[in-house]
Amino acid sequence: MPVLVMKFGGTSVANLDRIRRVAKRVGVEVAKGYDVIVIVSAMSGKTNELVGWVNETSPLYDAREYDAVVSSGENITAGLMALTLQEMDVPARSWQGWQVPLMTTSAHGQARIEEIPTKNINEKFGEGMRVAVVAGFQGISPEGRITTLGRGGSDTTAVAFAAAFDAERCDIYTDVDGVYTTDPRICEKARKLDRISFEEMLELASLGAKVLQTRSVELAMRYKVKLRVLSSFEEQSDEAGTLVCDEEDIMESNVVSGVAYSRDEAKMTLQSVADRPGIAATIFTALSDGGVNVDMIVQNISDEGRTDMTFSCPTDQVARAEQALLAIKEQGELNYAELIADTDVAKVSVVGIGMRSQSGVAAKMFKVLSDEGINIKVITTSEIKISVLIDRKYMELAVQALHDAFELDQAA
Ligand code: ADP
Ligand code: ASP
Ligand code: MG
Repeated sequence: MPVLVMKFGGTSVANLDRIRRVAKRVGVEVAKGYDVIVIVSAMSGKTNELVGWVNETSPLYDAREYDAVVSSGENITAGLMALTLQEMDVPARSWQGWQVPLMTTSAHGQARIEEIPTKNINEKFGEGMRVAVVAGFQGISPEGRITTLGRGGSDTTAVAFAAAFDAERCDIYTDVDGVYTTDPRICEKARKLDRISFEEMLELASLGAKVLQTRSVELAMRYKVKLRVLSSFEEQSDEAGTLVCDEEDIMESNVVSGVAYSRDEAKMTLQSVADRPGIAATIFTALSDGGVNVDMIVQNISDEGRTDMTFSCPTDQVARAEQALLAIKEQGELNYAELIADTDVAKVSVVGIGMRSQSGVAAKMFKVLSDEGINIKVITTSEIKISVLIDRKYMELAVQALHDAFELDQAA
């Protein structure tokens, strides 16, 4: 029988009523003749609560135990969803990551999926099970420890299952009815897109649009998964939501197609480091070994052989960055005057494949921000995006002003 993957995010399974509601939708697909793989997130707020408990217990925690704790939210939803389906006379059972087994790397907290053997689940489909309810976000490492796939990781679980089982479609049900030109929660003029290219979705996701986890888009692109984002709160037709697809399948295209933001950024400045070959390598090797994901990097001009080095990283990695840099300072590998952490910043980015062929987007972006009196702290660009770091208090204003200036409320 054809397989369909349906993923339900935290707000879609926030309580028993909502679980019943989405289970009915699963029942509809089963009645159409699909074998369904349901991927569930933890109930909304649950993962944050678990992460909070870990941080309170151990600020520089052992990531293996972090995973043991934070993966548990999904187990509850998977069991409840299976029970709800059984109550509706739909033959269903729950699967935790290790039971599949969903094999990952051992990079705890941000593990990557290596393999999803289909044998166990297919055997049960063969015996009459119609729905496999899989706990999202979790897997098992080669050492046999529970791993998690990074925040938002259930999206990636869903796409990976769709690829492994050659599913007809991967439907990501969430609390908005598709992918918008920007987060509809902070910009009321945001416009829903019927289609978006993998490339643009990849950039938007990696720049903070959390509607899909970045890795899920990468996998969908690589394995040609038919990926759709839609609302679990509205009645659905086959055309509902947003289809993430190849660039060739999109007719309309604005130069800029979306604006993304991330409030979880910190700007770190190392004051007065020696300006000589090898210093950047020393700093960024220490950060990488310490598990810090560095994003933007700027080196200031040098004065009497000393310079300042600025980089950005996620706010929750500031303590790790400080620890890693202090360690090499104490070992005499790096000398610096001070390390200043500014956690009141946000990153705002504009994205569009049209930028490849049209110039002037950066100039326009900077002008819009300056007209609003917003100071830019760091800039980075790539072929199809421009990002700036600004004071967090201006973040929403910047997103709205850019959305207006690039006329994203109107289709091309
Ligand atoms: P789920 O719990 O279903 O995984 P998430 O909270 O992870 O849901 O993702 C959905 C949220 O993503 C929306 O509520 C919305 O606020 C946010 N979002 C950010 N950028 C966008 C965008 N461009 N389009 C749609 N939603 C966006
Ligand atoms: N529950 C996890 C999180 O909140 C995974 C997910 O929902 O995608 O990040
Ligand atoms: Mg999510």
